[in-house]
Amino acid sequence: MNYHLILTRQCNLNCVYCHGGEEDGNTEIQYSIDNLSDFLKKDRTNISLLFYGGEPTLRVPLIIDLIDRFPKATFMLQTNGLLVSQLPEDYIKRFHSILVSIDGTEETTDRYRSKGVYQRVIKNVRWLREIGYEGDLVARMAVSEQSDIYRDVRHLVDLGNPSFDHVHWQLNVVCDAEGNWNDFDGWVEKSYNPGITMLVEDWVSGLEEGRVQGIAPFLPVMHTILTGERTELRCGSGLDTFAIHVDGSIGVCPISPDWEFSIVGDIRTTRPEQLRGIMRVEDPCPTCDIEWVCGGRCLFANRERLWGDEGLRKVCKTVRHLIESLQNIVPRVQELIENEVISLDQLSYPVNNGCEVIP
Ligand code: SF4
Ligand code: SF4
Repeated sequence: MNYHLILTRQCNLNCVYCHGGEEDGNTEIQYSIDNLSDFLKKDRTNISLLFYGGEPTLRVPLIIDLIDRFPKATFMLQTNGLLVSQLPEDYIKRFHSILVSIDGTEETTDRYRSKGVYQRVIKNVRWLREIGYEGDLVARMAVSEQSDIYRDVRHLVDLGNPSFDHVHWQLNVVCDAEGNWNDFDGWVEKSYNPGITMLVEDWVSGLEEGRVQGIAPFLPVMHTILTGERTELRCGSGLDTFAIHVDGSIGVCPISPDWEFSIVGDIRTTRPEQLRGIMRVEDPCPTCDIEWVCGGRCLFANRERLWGDEGLRKVCKTVRHLIESLQNIVPRVQELIENEVISLDQLSYPVNNGCEVIP
């Protein structure tokens, strides 16, 4: 099973879509590592620990302690990248994946995250490469109204130094009131959906040259379309992926500690096997004709409906467009696989490292 460990709720940034973590109340972990160990010992599966915050690199000694304490686990780090070089190199190399928040070009990133952030992140990602980090280095974008998905994804895919293995993005939708958008419908129609169409065309053109660009949403979705293997909610929330909040409570998703529905246990009283499959997406997903490819997008959005039913449908239109754009290139991709230009395996993204896949 996969556990997001919220190492602190504090953050050293104040991004427009998140507002800098929490400063009040209990921001630090209130359980002991022994409590955590007792809980994890009962989990008979392969364990992934995804360090998350706030900003997890504000707690370097805790990260070191956890890696030492659970040597058989697979580790992932989700970070804003500003302090990553404070981690010892040999511990950095223990991470299977490092997901670094960066929103696209310098202008886009700094607009959302504060001036100068882009250059600092790029410098640190270069450093990760220089020290020989060989795990999966993922650019993780938050996409909002100032984003141009084509320009911003292309920028990160095409960066030569440093290079990311994968680029993933999540739409800043339904996590918040709709007030942070001026014209979501217009942006989707004029900017986002046309940008996805162009990205898909670029991607398949790259495949035709034998280059598999690591655009995280395209790879596993195409794999599912080609194999017909039905997917479940791709982030795994409520299925095999949970968040351990600072108070030791267990939630279905790392972003929702304050939402009562999302708390499903406590490391001091719950056994891991009680968690598996405890919550699933509800209507409209189970009756949606593309659920087998989409998986339900986001459990939090599905349950909370902060934009209402109509808002959820608007977001689903972006999912449908992305899936249909990929379905349109299936004959070309199949031909490439038959001619051994690429292999089906190259299109899979088998590990849940915190990329939710469906934006
Ligand atoms: S497209 Fe929307 S309704 Fe359909 S499965 Fe995905 S999230 Fe659910
Ligand atoms: S996709 Fe939604 S439910 Fe899944 S981890 Fe992200 S916010 Fe949580």
